[in-house]
Amino acid sequence: MYIVLIGPPGAGKGTQSQHITEYLGIPHLSTGEMLREAIAQRTPTGRHAEPYISRGDLVPDPVVVEIVGERLQQPDCARGALFDGYPRTEGQAESLSEFLEQRGKQLDVAIEIAVDDEELLRRIVGRARTASRPRTDDTPEKFANRLRRFHEETSPLLAYYEERGLLERIDGIGSPDEVWRHTKQAIDARLQD
Ligand code: AMP
Repeated sequence: MYIVLIGPPGAGKGTQSQHITEYLGIPHLSTGEMLREAIAQRTPTGRHAEPYISRGDLVPDPVVVEIVGERLQQPDCARGALFDGYPRTEGQAESLSEFLEQRGKQLDVAIEIAVDDEELLRRIVGRARTASRPRTDDTPEKFANRLRRFHEETSPLLAYYEERGLLERIDGIGSPDEVWRHTKQAIDARLQD
């Protein structure tokens, strides 16, 4: 199964990703993690991406499309993958469907984890206080910018996937286990299709 996970920063995509990848035995492809790794390794991609990430802006599509394209060529992605934090723009969504089509595959479902802005702001304040591995983009100001980017650039993807009959909207408020129960139901329904 090829699954896209969409949600604003702080919605709990990381936790749901762990459940989904374990449940389906598919690899977890987080572009945020790939980019942070590239920065840590000081690769050219990392150097290019760093200023965007530290501002809370989106990294330009060609950079992201390239790292995902490379990752998708690895054998563990042949039977499915969970895309976490990708695509974030319509351009990225188009290239993802091309990547999959080239391999005779298609996206099975786009799962939206929906959380309103007020709740997100409450969560991010908590996360900034307790994070064991602080992220440079988790300050309240940068978080606000990431949230704005989500509304401006990523949320149009919800309509994009809805038009294609691929969108499943999950209420992201509630305990992580509750959210997982609903996510699993949505996956199971698609598995039966
Ligand atoms: P995340 O860990 O998914 O919240 O991503 C952290 C940061 O990495 C984002 O705020 C962006 O700056 C960058 N990033 C991650 N994924 C993408 C993507 N698909 N397109 C553009 N920028 C991305």
